[in-house]
Amino acid sequence: MELDMERQERYFIVVRRSKKGLSRGSILRADAETAAGDLIGMVYGGGGSARSSGSVKKHDTYPLSRHQAQLLLFVSPASRRLELMCNVQLFSAVCDLTQDDLVVVKHKKDFQPCLVKNLIQIGKKDKPGVLQMLGFELNLMEGEQDILSKKTVPLPFFSAADIVQVVPSHSNTRQPLRISIDLGLNRKAVSRINSMPTLKFRNAKKRSIFSNKDVSNSIQAMSHYSLEVGHMAEAISLNGLTVYGVIRWIGVPDGKKNYWAGLELDNEATTCSDGTLGTIRYFTCEGNKALFVPLTNCKPDSRFLFTPNEIQKPLEPPSVTLLEDLDEDVPPVAEQDVMSHLVGRMRGIQGHFNSCYLDATLFSLFTSSIAFSRMFNRSADSEEGISHILRRDIVNRLRRSGFVPAESVMKFRKQLGCKSFATEEKDPEEFITLLLKHVLHIEPLLKIRSHGELSQDAYTHQIIVEKNQVGTVPSVQQLLEMSLVSSDLKFEEIPSCLIVQMPRFGKKFKMFPKIIPSTELDITDVLHCSPRECFLCGHLAEYECCQCLTDHKLQPGKIKQYCSTCNTQVHTHTSRQEHTPHKLTVPDHLPEDASVQRHQMQLFAVLCINTSHYVSFVKYGPDSRSWIFFDSMADRCGDDNNGYNVPVIRSCPEVGDFLSQSEEEISTADLSQCSELVRRLLCDSYMCLYQRTDNTSQHHQ
Ligand SMILES: [Zn+2]
Ligand SMILES: [Zn+2]
Repeated sequence: MELDMERQERYFIVVRRSKKGLSRGSILRADAETAAGDLIGMVYGGGGSARSSGSVKKHDTYPLSRHQAQLLLFVSPASRRLELMCNVQLFSAVCDLTQDDLVVVKHKKDFQPCLVKNLIQIGKKDKPGVLQMLGFELNLMEGEQDILSKKTVPLPFFSAADIVQVVPSHSNTRQPLRISIDLGLNRKAVSRINSMPTLKFRNAKKRSIFSNKDVSNSIQAMSHYSLEVGHMAEAISLNGLTVYGVIRWIGVPDGKKNYWAGLELDNEATTCSDGTLGTIRYFTCEGNKALFVPLTNCKPDSRFLFTPNEIQKPLEPPSVTLLEDLDEDVPPVAEQDVMSHLVGRMRGIQGHFNSCYLDATLFSLFTSSIAFSRMFNRSADSEEGISHILRRDIVNRLRRSGFVPAESVMKFRKQLGCKSFATEEKDPEEFITLLLKHVLHIEPLLKIRSHGELSQDAYTHQIIVEKNQVGTVPSVQQLLEMSLVSSDLKFEEIPSCLIVQMPRFGKKFKMFPKIIPSTELDITDVLHCSPRECFLCGHLAEYECCQCLTDHKLQPGKIKQYCSTCNTQVHTHTSRQEHTPHKLTVPDHLPEDASVQRHQMQLFAVLCINTSHYVSFVKYGPDSRSWIFFDSMADRCGDDNNGYNVPVIRSCPEVGDFLSQSEEEISTADLSQCSELVRRLLCDSYMCLYQRTDNTSQHHQ
C-alpha cells in the first residue's frame, strides 16, 4: 500500500531559477501537473519538513527518484545539490553504494578513505508529507582509525555531496545498505530497521537503476543544464558524427529559438568556421574548428567516463568559466584541490606520437611550481604566437580543467621551429633550453663562475662526477656539490629554478643504480661570494680546498672550507702539505662571528625515464606527502590507428613518506618491499627540479 503510494510520488529538483521564486536546488514533490506544463506540489525545506506548496515550470526541473531526493535533501546549501548532480558518474555511484564499499570523503579539509556502513535516516519519523533526509554512516579505514582513535570523536553523518570518490567494489557479496534512523541528528538515538520500502524497490533493480532507460535519458537531459562555457563536451554534428571539443559559447543564436553551443573542436573539419555562424561572430578560434549545434546535441565528454575495474575518477565539472576568463592566467592548482581536480584517468597532458619527453617536462615545470609564474611576457605575446599557445592551450588549460588534449600539444610541437620536435623523441634538456630561451625569452637560469671567472650561462646543470667520488647511493645534494667543486664551479647567485641532470648518458647507461632525490637542496656552499662556515670550527670560511674533498679522515664528499686558522692547521698534516687551498671571495664588511644564512631550494618535480619513456613526479604542496605521479601514455583506448592515449595522474603519498626517512635508511631500503612508484623514483630519475623558496629570496641581498 505504502509502496504503491511511493511509486506514484514524483520528485523534481529545480535546475533553473523560476519566476515564482523557487531557487535552484530546491526539491519538490509534484502532486499534479497542469496542461501548461506547471508542476504543483510540496517544496521541501531543510530538515525534510514540507515547507510550503509551490509550482514550477516542468522544463525548469529535473526528475529524481525518491531515494535521490532523500540523499540530496541532506546536502546543503541547495546549490551543492546541483553540483553533485552534474557529476553524473559520481552521483550514480553514490546512489548505488552498498555496505563496505570504499569511498573517499572530504572531512575537515582532508581527504579520508572510509568504508560505507549504513544509510542514516535523519529527521522525524514518518509523518504524512515529510521526506526524510538520508545520510551515510561511514567507518574510517583500518589504520586510519588507529591514528585517530585517541580522539574518540565519532564521525559525523556524511551527506552524498561529502563523497568525492567511489572505488568500485569487486566482491560478489555486496550487502545492500540498511537504513538506520537518527532522531533529530542525535547519534545516541540511532536505531536500526532492516529495510525500507524504497530499498526493496532499489534492491529489485539493484545495479540497474541507472540503466533504466527513462533515468538514463533524463540524466542525459540533465547534462545540458550542467554544461558550461569551458567544459569539454562531445556533440553530435549535423552530419551525425561524434566530435569532441571545448564549449566556447552558449546562447540563442540569431534566428534560432533554443539554446545552442559553440564548440572549439579538437580536430579540424571542413564544414566548420573560425567562430562565426552565418554572418555573426560568437567567438574566435582557428579556422575550420568552430562547430555550432543545439545544446541538446551536447553532453559531457564521454572519453572521461569511467569503466569498471578502474579506479574511478569522475569528471569534476570545472568551476564556472566565463569566455573572457579563458585569457586570464590561472595559478598553479592549490594543494587541497589536487585530489579532486587532477588525480584520475584522462588527467594531465594527453600523450601522442613520441610526445612523452614533452608531456612529462611541461607537467613537471608548470603543474605546481611558482618558479615560472611571471615568465609569460604578455606584451610580447601575439594572438597566434607559440608562447600564447603554450600559455592558453597548455598551461592554463592544465591548471583550469586538469586535462590537455593531445591536439593542443601537437599544435605547440609543430611551432617549435624544428620538424623533429613534432615527430621524434627528444631529450628534455634540449627541449627545456628551447622552451625557456626561444619560446619564453627567459634569461639563463644559471650564471656560473669557473675558477673564479664569470664564464657560462645555462638553463640546466649536468652532474659530472667520477663514480668513486661519492657513495654507491648518492643524494642529489652530494652529486651537485661534488660536480661543482671538482670542476671548481660556483653559482654566481641563487637561481629561481635549478634543474639538475642526473649522471646518466643516453637512454641506456646510468652511473648509479639508485639516486636519492634530496627534497631540500642546500646551495650555500656552492654560491660565489656568499658567506660560508668553516668546515671545522664554524667561523667565517676564507679558504676552500679541493684536495681535502676525498680525504677519508675528513668526512669524504663534503665540501671543505676553512677559516684561516683551521686552514693552516689542516694543511700542516704531512699527508696534506701538497694541497693548494685557494682563497674564497667573501663579501666585504662581514663581522667574523656573523651567523651564516643557509640557502635552501625545494624539490618540486622529478622527471624519470625508463626504456625511452618519460614520466614525472610532482610535489604539489608543502605537505611532505603531497606527491603525484604522471604518465601521459599510461593506458590506451582503441588500436594504433584509431585509438588515443589515456593520461593518468596518481596520488602517491608513499613517495613522500619514503623520502622523509634519513639518507641512510633510504639507501639501504629493500626496494622489493616498496611500492612500484618509490622504486621508479629512486632508480629512474633523469632530472630533479628545484625552486627557490620565499624564505631564501627574502634574505638574498
Ligand atoms: Zn675554522
Ligand atoms: Zn686540503
